[in-house]
Amino acid sequence: MSSTKPETWLRPTSQGLYCAPGDFFIDPAVPVARAVITHGHGDHACPGNRHVLATPQTLAIMQSRMGEEAAGTLQPLAYGETLRLGDVTLRLVPAGHVLGSAQVVLEHGGSRVVVSGDYKRRPDPTCAPFEPCNCDLFITEATFGLPVFHHPPDRQEIDKLLHSLSLFPERCHVVGVYALGKCQRVLALLRRAGYEEPVYLHGALIGLTQLYESLGVSLGPVLPLADVSRDALRGRIVLAPPAATTDRWSRRLPDPVVAMASGWMRVRQRAKARGVELPLVISDHADWDELTATIEEVAAVEIWVTHGREEALVHYARQKGYRAGALALTGFEEDE
Ligand SMILES: [Zn+2]
Ligand SMILES: [Zn+2]
Repeated sequence: MSSTKPETWLRPTSQGLYCAPGDFFIDPAVPVARAVITHGHGDHACPGNRHVLATPQTLAIMQSRMGEEAAGTLQPLAYGETLRLGDVTLRLVPAGHVLGSAQVVLEHGGSRVVVSGDYKRRPDPTCAPFEPCNCDLFITEATFGLPVFHHPPDRQEIDKLLHSLSLFPERCHVVGVYALGKCQRVLALLRRAGYEEPVYLHGALIGLTQLYESLGVSLGPVLPLADVSRDALRGRIVLAPPAATTDRWSRRLPDPVVAMASGWMRVRQRAKARGVELPLVISDHADWDELTATIEEVAAVEIWVTHGREEALVHYARQKGYRAGALALTGFEEDE
């Protein structure tokens, strides 16, 4: 049987990636009638869609962040279950990016497409590991799609934080983390490294951290920062949104060491520009070696690259003999 080329039924539009035979968008940038959402980050999950299909965890995250605005109707689909939508078979498999994150596996007309969403390959105690899935077309993200990006082991970065804490016991250590995923991963990594003290959270991080706990991810003792005196924060770890670590809010902290956990901390100038004294290279995205290894592993014939530094990865894939191109999607932004 001859297969129907994916570009005839899956295409980028100004609203997002559209699957015609199933009549739905994947991670639309603006509200649509039917959306399939890979994960809860703001550049993938917009509020106001009429109908949303996603993993139960992603739906819970969207409801926590958006309340009533999350969607008209929400349809959960567990990892590995298949669903028929119009003339397409759809399955969600773990992407290893944040809790609930999924790759979307589509089958139509004899070909299989995997839309990776955001993904990483390192083990993460807060979410299910990335599951490689053989396909004809792999649509990959490329947030760190340059050979210069190599993420060090997480443990090495967490040890830097713990080492600094032992060197400066009179100072507060404030770590900039994104509210969804990075905050909870840093907590889990601290616990794995044997740190059992309470960790203090900026108010903006409390809701999703409680949601992770309620969905079965243990993160150890956390306390709201709000009612703690300045002196009680000496020698403590505080987690806060990246912007808060350097604005007026941080003045309430005693002599803070400003840290930030992000893949971008690999870029010295970025750390410096953000006033980060202790950069921690902890990323929820694949680095260059992991992107290229994943492309090989899924054994696709064709690669579409989106969401980041497309050119280098497209060039790499072509050199390796793949059909490859950049999928120009609007509405995507860096979320790390
Ligand atoms: Zn993301
Ligand atoms: Zn993203």
